[in-house]
Amino acid sequence: MRFLILSDPHANWPALEAVLADAEGKFDQVVCCGDLVGYNPDPARVTDWIRQNTICVVRGNHDKVVAGIDSLEWFNEIAQIAARWTIGQLSDDQLAYLRELPIGPAKLEHFHVWHGSPRDEDEYVTGAREAAPAFEALEHPLAFFGHTHLQGIFVSKHRRLGVIAPVPRNEREIAIELEPDVLYLVNPGSVGQPRDGDPRAAYAIYDAEQKVVYLRRVDYPIQRTASAIVEAGLPEVLAQRLAYGF
Ligand code: ZN
Repeated sequence: MRFLILSDPHANWPALEAVLADAEGKFDQVVCCGDLVGYNPDPARVTDWIRQNTICVVRGNHDKVVAGIDSLEWFNEIAQIAARWTIGQLSDDQLAYLRELPIGPAKLEHFHVWHGSPRDEDEYVTGAREAAPAFEALEHPLAFFGHTHLQGIFVSKHRRLGVIAPVPRNEREIAIELEPDVLYLVNPGSVGQPRDGDPRAAYAIYDAEQKVVYLRRVDYPIQRTASAIVEAGLPEVLAQRLAYGF
């Protein structure tokens, strides 16, 4: 079984479309680590696609706010404007779907899935301080998560922590062969709003038979999303940041 691992698509349809074209033929099932909506202008289309095509999705903080589970006041002003706009774009049925998304962590046959961390879906796992307790929570040696929009992998070998960097800018993929006795926390990066300085859409593929994780990046028509953000009347900074990958 080969899994396409998506996280933080954030209503960016051109980015999701590019990822699906790039990954075509390379996966059997799709998993999503949350934040289907927010920031970008295609929340209905992205929500519908995720709903129809994934075997596992956990909710993200933007999904919670748009669904009315969490208060808008936790967001900065830009995210609040985008969340309010997003609510107006979704049908009652789509909002109900977001409201019913499960809280992570989810446990599948081969790995775990969550948005922030296993103890808190809103926690940013950016370093050893947050990664160490996350490793303690694992029953499988492998987990996928999102929230930070930073592609990369934390590894733990006999409790010694290490990091695998994202795909270099001049490459499209790195392959990580999973070793026995090593634990892996994999952030595929964000499909719809990368923040690691690389504006290309980010995702991962996990081949459970070969025991290989592939981190991947693909170009997408950023200008298409940026223009649609401006046309929708969303804050222009949301359009500008996509070109920089921040
Ligand atoms: Zn996010």
